[in-house]
Amino acid sequence: MDQRQPPRRNSDLLKGGQISIELEQWFTRLQQSLGLEVGADYLNIQGKRSQFNNFLAASCSQPPAGLTTDQQEKLRNYAEGFHNYNSLSVDQRKRIVIDLRRSLHQWRTELQPTSSPSAPRLRLEKIDIDTSESISKLSTFNLNTPLGQIDGISSKLATQFAKINLWLVKDLLHHYPRDYVDYSQLVPISSLQPGSTATIVATVKRCHAFVSPKNPNLSILDLQLQDPSGKLKISKFMAGRRFTSTAWLHQQMRSYPVGARIAASGLVKESRFGISLQDPLLEILETPNTKLQSRQIGRLLPVYPLGEGLVAERLRESVIKILPVVNQLLDPLPDVWRLKLKLISLREALYQIHQPESADFLQASRRRLVFDEFLLLQLALGLRRLQIKLKNAPVLPASAVGNRLLNFQKLLPFQFTPAQARVLQEIRADMAKPQPMARLLQGDVGSGKTVVAIAALLCAIDAGHQGALMAPTEVLAQQHYEKLCSWMPHLNVTVDLLTGSTPAPRRRALLQDLANGQLQFLVGTHALIEDPVNFVSLGLVVVDEQHRFGVAQRNRLLNKGLQPHLLTMTATPIPRTLALSVHGDLDVSQIDALPPGRLPIITQVLSNQERWIAEELIRTEVAAGHQAYVVLPLVDESEKIELRSAVEEHQRLAHEVFPDLSLGLLHGRLNSSDKQAAIEAFSRGVTQVLISTTVVEVGVDVPNATVMVIEHAERFGLAQMHQLRGRVGRGTSPSHCLLINNSSSAIAKQRLDVLARSSDGFEIAEVDLRLRGPGQVLGTQQSGLPDLALASLSDDGSILEEARDVAQAILAADPELIEHRQLAEDLALQKQKLANAARLN
Ligand code: ADP
Ligand code: MG
Repeated sequence: MDQRQPPRRNSDLLKGGQISIELEQWFTRLQQSLGLEVGADYLNIQGKRSQFNNFLAASCSQPPAGLTTDQQEKLRNYAEGFHNYNSLSVDQRKRIVIDLRRSLHQWRTELQPTSSPSAPRLRLEKIDIDTSESISKLSTFNLNTPLGQIDGISSKLATQFAKINLWLVKDLLHHYPRDYVDYSQLVPISSLQPGSTATIVATVKRCHAFVSPKNPNLSILDLQLQDPSGKLKISKFMAGRRFTSTAWLHQQMRSYPVGARIAASGLVKESRFGISLQDPLLEILETPNTKLQSRQIGRLLPVYPLGEGLVAERLRESVIKILPVVNQLLDPLPDVWRLKLKLISLREALYQIHQPESADFLQASRRRLVFDEFLLLQLALGLRRLQIKLKNAPVLPASAVGNRLLNFQKLLPFQFTPAQARVLQEIRADMAKPQPMARLLQGDVGSGKTVVAIAALLCAIDAGHQGALMAPTEVLAQQHYEKLCSWMPHLNVTVDLLTGSTPAPRRRALLQDLANGQLQFLVGTHALIEDPVNFVSLGLVVVDEQHRFGVAQRNRLLNKGLQPHLLTMTATPIPRTLALSVHGDLDVSQIDALPPGRLPIITQVLSNQERWIAEELIRTEVAAGHQAYVVLPLVDESEKIELRSAVEEHQRLAHEVFPDLSLGLLHGRLNSSDKQAAIEAFSRGVTQVLISTTVVEVGVDVPNATVMVIEHAERFGLAQMHQLRGRVGRGTSPSHCLLINNSSSAIAKQRLDVLARSSDGFEIAEVDLRLRGPGQVLGTQQSGLPDLALASLSDDGSILEEARDVAQAILAADPELIEHRQLAEDLALQKQKLANAARLN
């Protein structure tokens, strides 16, 4: 037990460590004046009634009741110090002020009712974190010092660090622990829980060191310990000849004399001999107040990602060596924000993430560092947005002369839903402004984004400009083109298709028409943003299924010197945190309701043995005149994993299961005309069952299809399967989606059940984000998300929102970050890092 706090009486415990108002006020006054003195660079400021040092000396010599005798004694020492304050050097003043501040903070926290009443504390060693704004230059190294030049880091160790990309002091500083072993729980012996990690403070009752009778190379130290709650025997095993000498054994026994107080940390284990600590870490406490020498006992012990040959202990020691460098950091976050958001300083945060004093500190530290990661991300996006908005775009007045838009709506067999109409309005309002639109259109699969996009493109054409619609695959581009061909001639609009497989002569003619304005509407793959493509007057670009494109491609459009309005569309609903992180530079419109009359898609998870249910269903639906998809993850039979590939499955179904039906095959390895033929045959109803890879994921629109079977469903992302499911349920008949699960894992089943239960794309994407990470949700091609070392998009949503607000406020007041130099520098560094990473890829 820590004697600074004598065991509380029961009545004290009931009150839960209450703190008197008088004491509360005393703390506040002292902490305030200490804070002012720090702000005044330790000048011994003159207060209203007395000088700082006199006020402190008086307050410390007569504290109100409620403090322990130990604390009172400490305060008397401080009183002495402040009495002589005028004769101290600035450094000495600083030390006593900071020291008292820390003690006050700690005592006050301990007295707060929220802190666990009976938890005593060990005194842990900590480096001095400078709380002043100035940079300490005392150190012999700085952030950019190579690790090999640090005292105590050998060149061999530095080489091992380099292998995991740690070269400079700052690299190691930002090499965060991946976990912590919790030795911070100071537990009475009687409350030790097997399986947990804990620290005890107890008295040595017996000590015996001896060579194992069974192994002459093993020595054993047995300690019998006792605290007021009970007794505990612990053993420490030491392997090696040198530990077996009589001298050494005697020295061990002298080190742990009977009656000494000892702190021990370890994993609590239970054996037939009772409870004990496994492989305990031990340290004798000279007096209850001695600071622990050990960097492990009583702490949240950091566990770092290691590389080959790197010993955890060496890494931990090295981090401790470089930690004082935090005093050289300037806090990029202005104090106003820091205080408002109750964030700890960057110096403190970086210290505490490596050497947390407590779980609370660790949490506060994480929160601060996560905030900073998000803030940089949001600032970068905010700046990009400002850049976009600085360019000039063609103004496309909402009251455009032509009326192609109206005529288009007349051609459609349906009316726009209110959600579609609203979104179109948002888009038109944007396009009527002289700054380029940068808008993301989100809408669940089947919500009718395409017609809205076409309507917007027609507005641009009505206003005398050209429009471009970019699709991620040739299949989809072709399909859009065909649809457009059935509408555009009626609207007096010229349309053409450009993909990688457009023959050269056709391509040449097309480019010419584009450049002289004869061609108004161009559909295509990313070929249409490639170099020789020049529009005479591009008004609007729509990027369909943008999650299939990288951010880099999106940027290419903007960097081309074109300043068209830009509408990107995605059918993968992106959870808000992810959308803010990747598309924070875009405005977002959302079609949040499906067209009327859609029937829910009945979704079912089947085991491998239940495949016959799917086959029966296909048969029934086809007999009723409908069509079905069977989707598989891979093209060829993989040798290692037994996957039912599309080609194999096509064979099996064609010969063994549905020899009487007409089957089609579609996969990515087909050349584009074969692909096209397969899709055409299916959409004309010539093939009844289409066996396919995920090529059909985007856009294929065959309303007569009512069954979607997904093989090896456990291998797909949920969002992706939600997309696939969206291929059915497009007509008026009830549709089915059957997920065949070949995995016996409970988690796989649980994931798939989400899909069976929910038809809400956002909910599904949230689960995917949680279970499979952002890469899965965004699709493999999506990049542009900087490395977040600590931040989690699924857990830290509220911090992200805060950071976004702060970023917006900062940029609104200081768009060039002139008043925020440190932030600007950090941003530049991050940008450089991203650029370097891109070059390596
Ligand atoms: P997505 O948002 O997945 O791209 P699409 O634009 O492909 O959706 O539309 C899905 C289907 O819904 C298409 O067949 C389309 O013609 C139809 N559709 C779109 N809007 C409406 C509407 N307002 N009412 C009825 N059907 C609509
Ligand atoms: Mg679509």
